[in-house]
Amino acid sequence: MTTWKRIRHHLTRKTRRTTGRHGAAALGLACVMVVFTAAPGSAGSGGPPAAPDPYFPLAGNQGYDVDHYDLDLDFTPATDLLVARAAIKAEARRDLTRFTLDFSGPAVERVVVDGRSAAFSRDGQELTIVPAGKIRAGRDFTVTVWYRGTAAPIDDPALGVYGWINTDDGAVALNEPDGARSWYPVNDDVRDKATYTFRITAPAGLTALANGEPQGKPRTVGDRTTAVWSMRKPMSSYLSMVAIGRFTVTDGRVGRLPNITAYDPAGDGDDAALHRTTADAVRWGQERIGRYPFDSTGGIIDRIDVGYALETQARPVYDGEPDEATIVHEIAHQWYGNSVTPKTWADLWLNEGFATYAEWLWQEERGGPTAQSVFDQLWATPANDDFWHLKTADPGRDELFNYNAVYLRGAMALHALRTTIGDRDFFTLLKVWADKYRYDNADTRDLMNLARAISHDNVKPLFDAWLYTAAKPATPQG
Ligand SMILES: [Zn+2]
Repeated sequence: MTTWKRIRHHLTRKTRRTTGRHGAAALGLACVMVVFTAAPGSAGSGGPPAAPDPYFPLAGNQGYDVDHYDLDLDFTPATDLLVARAAIKAEARRDLTRFTLDFSGPAVERVVVDGRSAAFSRDGQELTIVPAGKIRAGRDFTVTVWYRGTAAPIDDPALGVYGWINTDDGAVALNEPDGARSWYPVNDDVRDKATYTFRITAPAGLTALANGEPQGKPRTVGDRTTAVWSMRKPMSSYLSMVAIGRFTVTDGRVGRLPNITAYDPAGDGDDAALHRTTADAVRWGQERIGRYPFDSTGGIIDRIDVGYALETQARPVYDGEPDEATIVHEIAHQWYGNSVTPKTWADLWLNEGFATYAEWLWQEERGGPTAQSVFDQLWATPANDDFWHLKTADPGRDELFNYNAVYLRGAMALHALRTTIGDRDFFTLLKVWADKYRYDNADTRDLMNLARAISHDNVKPLFDAWLYTAAKPATPQG
């Protein structure tokens, strides 16, 4: 995500804070406990810990692991009606007599598990499903959910507007952090990556885009057109995306990689600049970081007033004409965030610090200010300034997108690491980090261990001072 505008948005929204959130958090823990007591036992050894994300305790279910989402979405902009079917293929990690999906979207009409009707109930964002028979640990199963109605975005007092957003001529779905549940039933845990197929039907004349690559040309039957897209590489649910509306599409290539960009012709966007800069940023990333992790790239400019751009997998979405730095930032996320994804939201700096530092490197290499000069300017911020008042690795749920703590201080921490271990080891680290944890999840400790292994330096004090302390480090090296 790029947040210059987002931060302003975020700050103006702060006045709407209420005390209600604490009540909601307590309720969340209660619901999680219900799920655990209904399905006791451990997830077995080797897997991630069977615990919800501390920032989003209601999201995700550790009792199963999703392999693939097949989403069939029929959308009518004139009425905002969404008629949908989600077929989710998963593997049980323990015996399941019941399980939950995260879903706060339209009315559920029917649920089927492995071809047999299943009982279901809804409570807040939990869709609880009781299959006709117990699903044994280790078994694959498919749950299919039919639903129909109007989907709406999540409007969070601290985090802004995200999820399914109806627009003048269509809709766009931007999920970070927990908005996927607004438009499809999901195991909304950043660690449960899956592949996706999107089958999107809309009135003829509109264009539907999603993550990944198109499967053939769109097909029109009567006055409705269906487009099919697939994401064949593992994807966290917060990075899934669809965009429906009037779009002008440019279908090109960066080397052998398809580069599909689109913009809403009713806006003042310039698709040529988006297309070209996206290609440049991908080439640059391939040189600096290594093999591009997905099977296509691109970008979408839509006229939505959310105040941010989002790095949706293989095809970021921009809420207006992006500048070059913003495109570089979102493309850098394809490696840092989308391919290598944090294990928990507290470690979001691993996305935003790296993507912000990519902007600094990009401009440094093009005769702009050096990363050192950007660092020096920020370092001059007095120790008693709010700039230093949160922990970069664990800023708190409501400060997840805090630009100073997560983005700028995240990038500063990387620069401090660079000056400590030296350019050669640092640029090796940038590549090995993306390669070692490709399509996987990693945390701050994993980065520290890798930096130590590559440099043979004791980087722990630096990590402690820059990432785990809510204060200005004593020296630039920590
Ligand atoms: Zn970002």
